Amino acid sequence: MLKRTGLLLIAGLLSISSRAQLACGTDDKYQQLKAAHPEIGALEQKLEAEIRDKVSKLDLRKFAKTTGANDTTYYDVPIVIHLVHDYGTEYVSDDAIFDAVSNWSEVFLASNPDTASVIAPFKPYIGNARIRLRLATKDPNGNPTKGITRRRSYLSANAGDQAKLDGWPNNSYINIWFVNTFSGSHSGAAAYAYYPSSGQWMPYYDGIIGLTTYLNYDKAIPHEIGHVLNLQHTWGNTNAPNVACGDDQVADTPPTKGHLTTGCTAASIYDVTCATGYVVNTPNGIIDYPDTTNAQNVMDYTYCQKMFTHGQVDRMHASLNSSVAGRNNLFNPANLVSTGALEARPDLLPIPEFSVEKAAFSTERSYFLTAGNAAKFVFRNRSWNDTITNVDWTFSNGADISSISSMGTINNQFSQPGWVTVTMTATGNNSGTATLTDDRAVYVADPN
Ligand SMILES: [Zn+2]
Repeated sequence: MLKRTGLLLIAGLLSISSRAQLACGTDDKYQQLKAAHPEIGALEQKLEAEIRDKVSKLDLRKFAKTTGANDTTYYDVPIVIHLVHDYGTEYVSDDAIFDAVSNWSEVFLASNPDTASVIAPFKPYIGNARIRLRLATKDPNGNPTKGITRRRSYLSANAGDQAKLDGWPNNSYINIWFVNTFSGSHSGAAAYAYYPSSGQWMPYYDGIIGLTTYLNYDKAIPHEIGHVLNLQHTWGNTNAPNVACGDDQVADTPPTKGHLTTGCTAASIYDVTCATGYVVNTPNGIIDYPDTTNAQNVMDYTYCQKMFTHGQVDRMHASLNSSVAGRNNLFNPANLVSTGALEARPDLLPIPEFSVEKAAFSTERSYFLTAGNAAKFVFRNRSWNDTITNVDWTFSNGADISSISSMGTINNQFSQPGWVTVTMTATGNNSGTATLTDDRAVYVADPN
């Protein structure tokens, strides 16, 4: 990560534009889309009107320093992770995904341990969104799932919207894709998402797409889920922090320019720029909010992000109660049943899977060698969907290693020309075994 940060800084310095390379590509995509499709602006206005209506019914003075006002609902939201990979470093384990989802979920319950380091002026404003992210246990066809799909595709590199393969209905699940790298038009972004107004317009692209390196990096993904639920950056909906004082339509996040990816520096977290003397007049009186910017807000870019505010929670709840992009169906009881969102993660059979490389050419993924060639094929176990306790392999064509038990990597070569059949049987920790037979795994050419 340090290395990556260094590269980003260099890229920023060399860039002709003075704009820094930033963490989130959401607003660049949003502005492009809105320019091309004015209908998105109308949807946005509908949602803003709904939010104004909701907020007008609250007494903001009560709301300012207590959790939840009148709304004590818990929102269970089904999610699905789509790993679009090419067997590179982006091919992360199921457990890494479960661990990340667990950390994201804490942020929406204000139970992330680092709320302890929220600075004093904002402690009373930490908002519990009462949103429980639930990995789906049923796919759109009702089949059991752990809420993860894997798809091999070259689109994992230089990715963008076109890499959003295998999407599930956006009014039933929040789709979250992960890829290896973004294309140049998203350079510098860790991830981006679509606001509900855009998601309504393009349901097939609705959701989040991020780099696997940011799967569990600070609050990168909770930030994007914030956008999915209509939160703006704390300085407004631009991709340009640290430029001009701005506002995010939320009362208890003081005006700010926002911050670059500074980490937890005192200069950022005690920054008072734009916030000095900030008060809000309401029909119920004046509310005096902190005179410090909320640089520890999940919707800033600091990577010192710890909290949502009560006002942001209310805005997220408004989007969950809106029909725009079908967000109001996500936590609908019938949807929670059909997605299995409230059920325990099932213990499913392993899915046997392997990848192949050609040893003589490092990580080149090729399926052709000559019989008797000193170079070897590298077969890597990629089985998933369960805790794997054993993998048995067999190889045809006069293989050096014709059968072996290994959960790792096997280097193998073949004396007989033709298509090689590989079988692999993966054993799950208590779910049984599953076998894959690939009768065209690699091709061995006749040397004569
Ligand atoms: Zn963002």
